[in-house]
Amino acid sequence: MTYAVRFQKVSRHFGQVRAVDGVDLEIAPGEFFAMLGPSGSGKTTCLRLIAGFEQPTEGHIQIFGEKAEGVPPYRRNVNTVFQDYALFPHLNILDNVAYGLMVRGIGKVERTKAAEQALELVKLPGYGMRRPGQLSGGQRQRVALARALVNKPKVLLLDEPLGALDLKLREQMQEELKSLQRALGITFVFVTHDQGEALSMADRVAVFNNGGTVQEGTPQDIYRRPKTRFVADFVGSSNVISPDVMILLGGERRWASLRPEAIHISGDGVEAAVENTSFLGAATRLTVGMRGTRLHVTLPAGVNVPDIGASVRLAWQPADVHYMDDAA
Ligand code: ATP
Repeated sequence: MTYAVRFQKVSRHFGQVRAVDGVDLEIAPGEFFAMLGPSGSGKTTCLRLIAGFEQPTEGHIQIFGEKAEGVPPYRRNVNTVFQDYALFPHLNILDNVAYGLMVRGIGKVERTKAAEQALELVKLPGYGMRRPGQLSGGQRQRVALARALVNKPKVLLLDEPLGALDLKLREQMQEELKSLQRALGITFVFVTHDQGEALSMADRVAVFNNGGTVQEGTPQDIYRRPKTRFVADFVGSSNVISPDVMILLGGERRWASLRPEAIHISGDGVEAAVENTSFLGAATRLTVGMRGTRLHVTLPAGVNVPDIGASVRLAWQPADVHYMDDAA
C-alpha cells in the first residue's frame, strides 16, 4: 500500500530537546488524520516535517511513496493552513487566495478563476475584493483554507486551524471541514490539543506525548480502549483507578479506566458519597468519594440528581472496566 504520509523512526532534535523522538506513522490516502496531544508533545514539529519546513535528525519520511528528504516544501504537493492564517493584509482576498498560483507562474485569468472556485468551496463567494481586515475571524479562517486548497494539494496540513474561533463557530467549522474533506478526498492531517475535536472529526487519531505517539486508532478505539493512563486521562474524562482501589471494588489488581457515563445509580451498587454535582445541560456530572478514591459519574437527563452530601449506590458492568497494560 502506498501511504499518503509515512514516518519511519523519525526524530527531530533541537539540541537537547527531543521534539519528535522515533515516531512511526502511516496515514492512508484520503484519510482525515488527527494528531492529538498536550502542548509541547511534538505535533507541530511532525506537521512541519511533513511540510518540509523541518528536516528529520533521524529516520525517513515518504509522501505518496516518494522520499521526502531533500524535497523543498513547494515541491511536496502539501499545503498548510496555519492557526494564525498568515494572510497578507495588503492584498485583497482574491489575490491572497491566488498567491500560490501566481508564484507558480499561472496566468491571471486562470488563477482568478481558480481562486473564485476555491472561495466558493469555502462558502465565501463574492468576498474577493475585500481585505483580510474587513473579515471576521471565521471568514479569515475560510480564506486561509481556500488559499491552501487552490493549489490542489494531495495532503492538507492543518495546525490548530480552529483554535482562534469561538465555540459555536468552531463546531460549525468542524462539520464543514469534515464534509469538505469527504467531498474533495484530500488527505487531511490535523493538529489539535482538543480531544473532542479530534474524536469528532478524525477517521484515525494518533495521541502524542513527549515527542512520541502513545496510541493510534479510530476515535472509538482510543476512547474505549485507552492503552495507558495518559491516554485515558487525556481523551475524554475517564476515571483512572489504581490497582489497590480496583481490588476493593472487586476487580483485578491492575490500573483501569472506567468512563463516567458507564456508572449508574443502582440499589445493589457500591456505596459512595456525593461531593459535588454540576448541571451540564444534557447530563449532570457527579463527583463522588468511594472506597478511598474519587470518581466522576455522568447521569443522563431525566435521572434524579442526588443532593451534595447524600449517599448513593453506584454500579457498572464489569465489561466497562478497561484494564490498561501500561501504567505509564
Ligand atoms: P503546541 O500544541 O504547543 O504547538 P506541539 O505538540 O505542537 O505543542 P511542538 O511545537 O512540536 O509541540 O514542540 C515540541 C517541543 O520541541 C517543545 O518542547 C518545543 O519547545 C520544542 N521545539 C519546537 N521547535 C523548536 C525549535 N525550533 N527550537 C528548539 N526547540 C523547539
